[in-house]
Amino acid sequence: MVRVRYAPSPTGALHIGGARTALFNFLFARHHGGTFVLRVEDTDQTRQVPDSEAKMLQGLKSLGIRWDEGPDIVGAPYGPYRVSERLARHRELAEELLSTGQAYRCFCTPEQLQRDREAFQQQGLPPRYVGRCRDLTREEVEARRARGERHVVRLKTPQTGETIVHDLIRGDVTFDNRVFDDFVIMKADFTPVYNFAVAIDDHDMAITHVIRGEEHLSNTPKQIFVYEALHFPLPAFAHLPMILAPDRSKVSKRHGATAVEEYREQGIILAALANYLLLLGWSPPDGREILDLEEAVRVFSLDRVQHTAAIYDLKKLEWMNHQYMMRLEVDEIAELVKPFIRYSVGEAPPFRDVVALSRERATTLVQLADQMRMFYHPPESYDAAGVAKHFSEEAAARLEILAARLAELEEWDHDHLVAIYDAVSAELGVKRAALIHPTRLAVTGRTVGPGLFELVTLLGREATVERLKTAVARIRSHELALG
Ligand code: GLU
Repeated sequence: MVRVRYAPSPTGALHIGGARTALFNFLFARHHGGTFVLRVEDTDQTRQVPDSEAKMLQGLKSLGIRWDEGPDIVGAPYGPYRVSERLARHRELAEELLSTGQAYRCFCTPEQLQRDREAFQQQGLPPRYVGRCRDLTREEVEARRARGERHVVRLKTPQTGETIVHDLIRGDVTFDNRVFDDFVIMKADFTPVYNFAVAIDDHDMAITHVIRGEEHLSNTPKQIFVYEALHFPLPAFAHLPMILAPDRSKVSKRHGATAVEEYREQGIILAALANYLLLLGWSPPDGREILDLEEAVRVFSLDRVQHTAAIYDLKKLEWMNHQYMMRLEVDEIAELVKPFIRYSVGEAPPFRDVVALSRERATTLVQLADQMRMFYHPPESYDAAGVAKHFSEEAAARLEILAARLAELEEWDHDHLVAIYDAVSAELGVKRAALIHPTRLAVTGRTVGPGLFELVTLLGREATVERLKTAVARIRSHELALG
């Protein structure tokens, strides 16, 4: 029975790296009919940010990720699901390791440790714990405790040999045990460090596969030491590739949004974001990149996870978003775009039709909302380059004729509109483009947008004629910088 977990530290917003880890765990669990556990790793009290747990859970849900056990699931069998609430168990096992001699109390002061570190540095060696308290006698330990000396608990780690992490993605990764020192497992306040708590919690929650980011690979041997000291069977490990920016640096603010909430605010459809995250390090077996979560569950496997870094490419995300923009039902997009509409929307034209026409040219929901505005409000200004190119005294004369003809057009539909433009273009001896470009600019204020006849059909006679007349008046008023 597969049991996996995602174990975020509640340090703020949900970022793409964490979201990707959660997604892969979720897909793996579902694919194998297993259980997905959400455990909140609030070990380091100082790093906690208020509301961050709620925000993270909300972020995961908004991506379509669901868990079977977690702090918010009533009656889940392996609780509590917040690490801070599992302290008694960590303490109990620390005591056990102390009593068997596999761990020891270390009384070294921060100043001593600092001097040790400097000595190593002077010799050009990586700093490590020197083992000063490794072999204190029981009497000495008790005497120093009785004096109330501050101390931590360290694990006795093997000083020779190798530890091999059998990683499901990267294969065997071998670590020389000499690079590890007797690391702290319990701090002076007798609370556990991550590497100790995580091993215990994963064991106690019967986790079968630990799937997490590559940045934790170097922690895995330490966790294996804990498993071994406690005689726990090892879970399987799988470390997901790093996510790097196109220049192969660490993804940061300057590469754009990194938090799920920010993408939402920028008008990224979260189903598209989830699909994009799926491709950050995993490739679909048949090359088909657009997959909803249900399809992803069916085809997901760890053996298609690459071990080289995944490149975070904003262009690709935008491409993906546009795919979703076109594929989702119009009604769905209409719902999604509503929060981005910051202007009044009248009865006509029908919202749904405006969405259907405008989405073809929009990458994000923000852009979509922006492009839909023209259907409800006349342009406040005209694109300056467009004015220089398409507006002139002659254009005004043409627009005036068009306004008159359109006002009398018997049927307001695409074909009749085309017929009028063809007729006027023949009468005036100008190309149809010489009518279309100024019309578009007059009606929308822009030089690009949906097909003009579709646009004008939907906009309706009254608004179109009025906007043409306004443009004519403004061209003739010489307030526009004509070309
Ligand atoms: N709390 C750790 C993190 O957020 C969890 C790492 C793990 O999955 O073991 O990175």
